[in-house]
Amino acid sequence: MIKIHTPKSHPRYLSQLYRDLLADGVETGVTSLQGMTAHGRAETFDYLIGEKTYPFAKSAIDAAAALLVLAKHPVISVNGNTAALVAKEFVELGKLIGNNLEVNLFHASKEREKKIKEHLIKNGAVKILMPGKGRIVGIESNRRMISEEGQSIADVVFVPLEDGDRTAALEKMGKRVITVDLNPLSRTAQTATITIVDHVNRALPLLITRVKVFKKFTHEKLEKIIREFNNKKVLSESMIHIQKRLQTLALQK
Ligand code: ATP
Ligand code: MG
Repeated sequence: MIKIHTPKSHPRYLSQLYRDLLADGVETGVTSLQGMTAHGRAETFDYLIGEKTYPFAKSAIDAAAALLVLAKHPVISVNGNTAALVAKEFVELGKLIGNNLEVNLFHASKEREKKIKEHLIKNGAVKILMPGKGRIVGIESNRRMISEEGQSIADVVFVPLEDGDRTAALEKMGKRVITVDLNPLSRTAQTATITIVDHVNRALPLLITRVKVFKKFTHEKLEKIIREFNNKKVLSESMIHIQKRLQTLALQK
């Protein structure tokens, strides 16, 4: 049972709730301690952005949904933070796009991989892929291990909250990478095919809704959405948004 420390009436209830979910993740062996600091960095960006989903994120969510629906072998890569924060949403998204959930950790640990697998199953997943004999080319150590049935043969990899090295390496392998990252300056945000600059807990429900709608669209219509999407543009828009927001706040009397 997750210990929620903050009443719903608290003005920063959601932020506190996500911290509680991650703290619970650490206690149950799903999340790493390093994952907590990564989340802290993201919280800073969320404060600067304004803790809402803005148009630059909405257009990236549309492009991501179109790419996931068109993909031949899409894989959702799950780490310790996303398992703690959006396990249910991952399972629901997985069911819509071929059920390829793969556990893949930056701080590799067999014990934690197992715990995450169990956690996803508890949240309704039927099948979980695990790191195996597949390799991310150009990455050293355990961080390179991927599933032969999963990321190795994937054409599209959805890796929210990923490290920049691995994102770049997956792109080099010819895969299209979709990420969710509140920091538009991170190497992941800068190298992914599609970057959703938003909190993962806000982005996932919206992405699921769009995937459901887009499954009824023609291929031509979906291809047009992808063609017209420009990742550099949404990254620029998110940075200009932060700049303008700070300027407005700074000049307020
Ligand atoms: P990079 O390796 O891409 O340069 P980094 O080293 O700064 O990034 P990592 O820990 O490798 O950071 O990657 C995690 C990324 O996920 C960070 O950019 C962080 O801002 C982002 N992140 C963490 N928690 C969330 C969240 N809840 N929602 C959205 N983004 C998040
Ligand atoms: Mg990193």
